[in-house]
Amino acid sequence: MREECGVVGVVKHGDESHPVPAALQMYYALYALQHRGQESSGITVHDGKEPNTIKGMGLVPEVFKKNDLIELKGKVGVGHVRYSTSGDSRLENCQPFIVRYKSGSVAIAHNGNLVNSSELRKKLESEGHLFVASSDTEVIAHLLVKELLKYDPVDAIRHVMKQLNGSYSLAILIDDTLMAVRDPFGFKPLCIGTIDSGYVVASESVAIDTLNGELLRDVKPGELVIFRDGEIESHQLFNEPCCAHCVFEYVYFARPDSIIDGKLVYKVRERIGEILSKEYPVQADMVSPVPDSGITSAIGYARESDIDYEESLMKNRYIGRTFILPGQAMRETAVRLKMNTIDENIKGKSIILIDDSVVRGTTSRRIIDMIRKAGAKEVHARIGSPPIVAPCYLGIDMASRDELIAAHKTIKGVEAVISADSLGYLSIEGLVESIGLDRDDLCLGCLTGAYPVDIPGEKMCNRRQLKINEFQ
Ligand code: AMP
Repeated sequence: MREECGVVGVVKHGDESHPVPAALQMYYALYALQHRGQESSGITVHDGKEPNTIKGMGLVPEVFKKNDLIELKGKVGVGHVRYSTSGDSRLENCQPFIVRYKSGSVAIAHNGNLVNSSELRKKLESEGHLFVASSDTEVIAHLLVKELLKYDPVDAIRHVMKQLNGSYSLAILIDDTLMAVRDPFGFKPLCIGTIDSGYVVASESVAIDTLNGELLRDVKPGELVIFRDGEIESHQLFNEPCCAHCVFEYVYFARPDSIIDGKLVYKVRERIGEILSKEYPVQADMVSPVPDSGITSAIGYARESDIDYEESLMKNRYIGRTFILPGQAMRETAVRLKMNTIDENIKGKSIILIDDSVVRGTTSRRIIDMIRKAGAKEVHARIGSPPIVAPCYLGIDMASRDELIAAHKTIKGVEAVISADSLGYLSIEGLVESIGLDRDDLCLGCLTGAYPVDIPGEKMCNRRQLKINEFQ
């Protein structure tokens, strides 16, 4: 199962009663992270005695009701939004995950994907641990409880991290202490900030902005941050952290107003557009985005190429989950429900259409068909990422290798399938330059087919294997 998620944690200092309770602040923060997961949401708050949780299937406003939230008393908590396209969409998999044991409780909110969760799970089951769900977060929770029976929290987490292979950005409550953990590669984002009389940890800085807080910094790869007695304690649990930040967060997944690992996503996407325009120039009447994910890059492309930016598609932002009956006519209605053409802008024009990525190719095909039907003369597709040639095992839900169009077709082949007059993908070098981080500090697995961690049946980047063994 592959998941895309958002995590948050809040702790308020002191004993005074706070104007905005921790639960309500997490609710607002989860709203800001809703784009990271729409399938389920949850909040756990610890009141000093025990953890109390509200979680369920659905969007943040569907799961939390005002009165229930006000009842969630306590100064500290963690929250989660989850999205999974695999079949396993059920209540038991909603997070935070809570395990009670003889000395207390742990609650975990996880963004990422473990590569070795089934082995770990089998081992834990053979030792008598009982699982209620199929998510890898439950595996982390059980491992942590097992180690907490032997070690103090820092050493327990150290021993858990030693066993995990994959991506994990975690907001954890061990009893009523909030902790943040980022895997030694820093695959998924995680940052910390200050808020009115407290601290916040979140997948993206937009959650901190929403709380009127201040971004302090990213959690470092391999770092454990403990929020205790109004102070931040940092424990670097790997000697030499070795970054492999996910490029897809910059390309598509994160909100453009977030700052991830020191880079404003908006600026990265603008730069993607500028570089794309230099790599694949073409004469046309206008540059148009596929909303919303292509907008920022289209602005960059238009500016660099000196071609007018004009919208040709409008997205319905209020669509949510829609009840669609099977059949071709209904499928077309579904597409129109999500996206409509602005025919007057399109008629007789040659259009440079900017999108962030092509995964299966079905969306591009449908959109280009719509634009042609609206009377476009030419449609030149320009894509703000290199061809996606391999699956992601580390937390982005993409598709299997069979479904990835660029894994099986040449660029000319993809161009034909999506029925574009021309097609240009950003180069890997162009993407790296847009992000502005060292190429060796990025995970390019989906673009190269070589991954920073050992994945059965896949190639590995050797350099990383050497460094990551140096566990403290
Ligand atoms: P398709 O090529 O039909 O699979 O759709 C690709 C489009 O879906 C891209 O233009 C993105 O805007 C969007 N997209 C890309 N990756 C994901 C993802 N992991 N989850 C949801 N949507 C995505």
